Order: sequence, then structure tokens, then C-alpha cells
Amino acid sequence: MSNPPRRRFSSLAAALTAALALWAGALALPAPTLAAPGPAAAAVAAPAQAGFYRTHIGDVAVTVLSDGTVGLDVTHGLVLGAQPGELDRLLAQAAQASPIDASFNVFLIQLGSHTILVDTGAGVTMGATAGKLGQALANAGVRPADITDIVLTHVHPDHTGGLVVAGKRAFPAAKIHVDQRELDYWLDAKRAAKATGMQAVFFGAAHASLQPYLDAKQVVAFAGATELFPGLRSVPAYGHTPGHSMYVLESRGQKLTFWGDLVHIPAVQFEDPAVAVGFDVSPAGAIETREQALAAAADHDDLVAHDHVPFPGLGHIRRAGTGYRWVPVAYVNDAAASGAR
Ligand SMILES: [Zn+2]
Repeated sequence: MSNPPRRRFSSLAAALTAALALWAGALALPAPTLAAPGPAAAAVAAPAQAGFYRTHIGDVAVTVLSDGTVGLDVTHGLVLGAQPGELDRLLAQAAQASPIDASFNVFLIQLGSHTILVDTGAGVTMGATAGKLGQALANAGVRPADITDIVLTHVHPDHTGGLVVAGKRAFPAAKIHVDQRELDYWLDAKRAAKATGMQAVFFGAAHASLQPYLDAKQVVAFAGATELFPGLRSVPAYGHTPGHSMYVLESRGQKLTFWGDLVHIPAVQFEDPAVAVGFDVSPAGAIETREQALAAAADHDDLVAHDHVPFPGLGHIRRAGTGYRWVPVAYVNDAAASGAR
């Protein structure tokens, strides 16, 4: 990469630490109480815009649940390795400007007797425009207690914040599946004690979201490529974080691959996968994994699901010039899938 990341990390750390101060504050606050009648109550009572999109992979119902969107400032040190002018050019090409609106997508898989979430959104960690998973689940007709399993792509607050509500398990029956490397990294007390800035916030958030499930012995670590259930397996995609994992769902010859955080800035990183972000624990590792995954998905015409590509985050990858292009799925109102007659 052409840009030394050190200076950029330090400015990002300052920005993100401020943004994520919400985390510590929110954990310390009591549960929200109902507002008194009046204009404020009307605002509180307005239904959250928490959408879902249901489709099928073979026999398996897959529902994308919107946890919301969050403005992502891509001008102040977040982007690593872009050429001069490249960021502005690619954002303009996509009719976007900083801050970009990053989708937070969560995926529900109804696989036999297992009701599975892929990640859990941000919970209270990212402000009022995110943390809508609970409402989206309710809209989709699923109760938190129905979730039997949660597979984590990685342990960052925008993916694990939704595991807890007011410090307690939001999904009391769920087993949490995560790569052993990811668990080892984020639960390393010595490393956490030495972390500063943004990384310190991430370690604190990891502890807060995982500890209630560790206490209840509901965390199950796997080692690399593993078949977790018939039809759902993990694939190592290390780099963004040390144990970052993809998941592959297959049913009746159809396949969907959940990519987690292999792409954060769609307008930029499909066309130029060599651009990294300050959230990457290993920017070089994240770039290598992204390039391999993009090439494989393009060559095999894989259907891909992203956590941060605009909702519902489902589509295909095409080669375009020296990079790639994102082709979102056509919108389908799957009435049979949603139970409507
Ligand atoms: Zn993320």
C-alpha cells in the first residue's frame, strides 16, 4: 500500500472513539422508559423504519433484516491506500458523498430446526439510526426467543452490539458460533489492557456483548472451515479481524455466501479492492482476502450477501476493467416466502 497507515489510524481513532463513546454511555444508562404524552411521545411512538426482505435458497428461507444505516465519514483517515483523487472520483461516479450511508444488514436463516442469525447489528453502540434488529425481527414474525443459533462473521460492535439489551442476552436461547481465533483475540485480557483509542473501544464492546453468553456457556468456538449444520459452513476470511469468517449456505444446488465485512465502502472497494479501511486489524490481510473472494465469486457467479452493501445487500460480482462491479439482485416480492396467500 502506498499510504503509511499510522498517521491515518491516529486520526481515525480520535474520530471513532468520540462516535463510540455512545457505547460506554449507553451501557451505563437504565433501560429507556416510556415518554409522557405529548410531541416527544409521538416521536417515540413512530414506528421504526426496520425493513426485511425474504427470499429462498433452495428449500431454505433467508430473510435480510435491516438494522438501519449509519453515516460513515470516509474523508477523515478512514480510507487507506487510495490513490490521490480516487476516493472523490469513485464516490462521484456512484452519486455519493461523504458521509456515505452504510447499511447494517443482518441475515435470518431458517434451516430445518435451526433459526439462525448471521450477526446481530449494532444494538445501542452506533446511535439512533441503527439498532433496529429487534423491530425488524418482529416485523418478520420472529421472536428473539425463537433464535437457536447466531453465527458471527466477527466481533465488532456493529455486528455484535445487538447480542445484548441493557447488559442481558437479547437472544436467551441462542448458541453463539464464532471462530476460535476471533474469540482468542478479543478475549485476550492483556491485549485489551494495552489497547488505545478505537481499539480500546472495540475490546470493551466485545467484552460487553459476549460476556453474558460466556457466563451462560452459550458460546461455541469453531476452528476454521467447519460444517456447523447440514447446509451451512464457515469459511476462513481472516484479515479484517483475526478470525473474520464467511458462511456458505447451500440447498438443492443453490448457494448463498455471507461475506460479513469484506467490503465497507461499496462505491470504492469493488472497483479498487486494494483500498482498505482503518477498521481493518490487518489492512494487508483484508485486501488479500477481499481480492481472493471477489475473484472466486465472479468466476463462480456466486450469490453474495453483505453486511454493509445497501439493503438488502444481496447480489453478484462481475469483473469490470481491473476491478469488479456489484450487481444487486432484482427486487422480488416473494409472497409465498412471506406467508401471504
Ligand atoms: Zn462492520
